[in-house]
Amino acid sequence: MKTFAQRRGLLITIDGPAGAGKSTTARALASRLGYAYLDTGALYRAVAWVVRRTGIDCADVGAMEALLSSIDVHVSLEEGVTRTFIDNQEITEQLRSPDISRLASTVAALPHVRNRLLPIQARYSREGGIVAEGRDMGTRVFPDADVKFFLEADLETRTTRRYQEAVRAGHAETRRDIRLAIQERDANDRSRATAPLKPAADAVVIDSSSLTVDQVVENMMEWIPGHS
Ligand code: C5P
Repeated sequence: MKTFAQRRGLLITIDGPAGAGKSTTARALASRLGYAYLDTGALYRAVAWVVRRTGIDCADVGAMEALLSSIDVHVSLEEGVTRTFIDNQEITEQLRSPDISRLASTVAALPHVRNRLLPIQARYSREGGIVAEGRDMGTRVFPDADVKFFLEADLETRTTRRYQEAVRAGHAETRRDIRLAIQERDANDRSRATAPLKPAADAVVIDSSSLTVDQVVENMMEWIPGHS
């Protein structure tokens, strides 16, 4: 592995459950450091989108493997946004619905889906200088990351954040729907056999329940070599 000095920048990971503030914090941290931001949930959402579009039964391993080997899934890392593409068709705007969130968590439990997305994610980190966000960044995809964070928050805080996002996006979900969807997705993500959601042994765990984004970023900066 290259050392810190040989790289263009560090590899920083942020894992945690839905609504813990990973995306907002990861974007803010990346912008503060002049790094790229990688949203790996977008890749699982993209697979869910194709499954929905093709009508494939995701429990059918053969059909899923054929599908996965026939599509090109990638994201482009631009300042503060992750644009998502399937076979060069941009689908960024179609990935945030409650249905896609639920299906993403279902397909993310399938080992062949995770294996297919593993090298795609690894490719983005070659040069360093990246803040990668997801569920298994520190445990599986980037076990040698320079700094690992695990961001959590209590259920009510996470529900409120997601509810406010839904209102802004014009989605007609109640707080109760959102709370249940978060609980269901977290239970799925934490209990799956392959790469379950959990803090890496060497992760810094931060509870963002009563912190602003700026406070979380300040806290993180103290752990980043050369930036504290
Ligand atoms: O982060 P986001 O909510 O977009 O992720 C959608 C779903 O994708 C998660 O609920 C999880 O099941 C899955 N995911 C994952 N591993 C990652 C990123 C996301 O399993 N690294």
